[in-house]
Amino acid sequence: MPGTSGKTSRIVGAEQSSRPNVNIGILALQGDFQKHLEMCELIQGVQARTVKTVAEIEACDGLIIPGGESTTVGKLMERYGIDEAVRRRSAQGMALFGTCMGMIMLSKDIEGSDQQRLGLLDVTVRRNAFGRQVDSFETDLVVPAIGGKPVRAVFIRAPFITEVRGEAEVLAALETGEIVMVRQGNILAAAFHPEITEDTRVHEYFAKMAAQSRAARRN
Ligand code: GLN
Repeated sequence: MPGTSGKTSRIVGAEQSSRPNVNIGILALQGDFQKHLEMCELIQGVQARTVKTVAEIEACDGLIIPGGESTTVGKLMERYGIDEAVRRRSAQGMALFGTCMGMIMLSKDIEGSDQQRLGLLDVTVRRNAFGRQVDSFETDLVVPAIGGKPVRAVFIRAPFITEVRGEAEVLAALETGEIVMVRQGNILAAAFHPEITEDTRVHEYFAKMAAQSRAARRN
């Protein structure tokens, strides 16, 4: 029953019952897209599907680029013209959320690499930045934009951000200073994997960005 839970009203507002669902696509060229799909399916007011084609991306209010292997996905995106479609839709206001590899793909600068990228986020990233000794780890991360209790952040061969410029804003950093979550207008990026926890708050935050994008498109 729409409109009864506090969670839903945070996302799409009071008139949601008369409003169509927000369409969130999860880019499914390679990597960890299934968990994002499952997470999005828990959020009321969200219609989530995996997407692989330019036509499918055109219909999205928000697009999630999951974790995976950034060199592979960069090549696939270019081969299928998906990079151009994402850049075009982003300029039109479509919300974008990159996690881990997705954050690398969104970034303008990747330290020591000329690999293909979308180049939309005004930051520099370092791939596999935590080194072999700490391949994977998890920690509690304070994210003021999300509020409430800290977010359990799981890092898997994760990048971090070494420089933030222009309109890009830091949403969270580790206690040791590494920047791991940023937002630049309609673009959100996290070095960690919120989709593999039980906590839907980061995806709800993104759903709200996608709802704003949808509203702007219809006006
Ligand atoms: N190490 C991967 C890369 O650089 C990203 C890891 C991930 O997405 N879990 O592409």
